[in-house]
Amino acid sequence: MPERVRVRTRGLVAERARFRCEYCLTPAGITPSPYSVEHIFPRSEDGTDTPENLAFSCQGCNGHKAAKTTAPDPATRRIVPLFHPRRQQWSDHFGWTADGTRIEGQSPTGRATVFALNLNRAGLQNLRRLMVLADLHPASPLRD
Ligand SMILES: [Zn+2]
Repeated sequence: MPERVRVRTRGLVAERARFRCEYCLTPAGITPSPYSVEHIFPRSEDGTDTPENLAFSCQGCNGHKAAKTTAPDPATRRIVPLFHPRRQQWSDHFGWTADGTRIEGQSPTGRATVFALNLNRAGLQNLRRLMVLADLHPASPLRD
């Protein structure tokens, strides 16, 4: 894939995600590390470079997801598919604790994804506390 196309694809993926990680919803503009364009199905499992297989992801979520596409649901220990940002709605699988610091899985896929991607990393919880104070939290009514 030529570099120019890759740059254009990256921009499309970031804009489609509204510049937020598609897993933890952290806005890219308030974190120090650059975000990645992540393969939902990895190339090793015949995942393609098409926009339908790409997700905008923070470094932490991308690193924890790696090549995984499934993980155990901590409630049942059954192996289930991870959240698929192109085919599923975030709010169907996840919710926020009342204080906005933790993501809770609302389905087997949601619970497995919270577990596998460690969506409640200590650094994210600290950042979410600050986002609540600054009215920048992804769950804020002003965000959607
Ligand atoms: Zn993330």
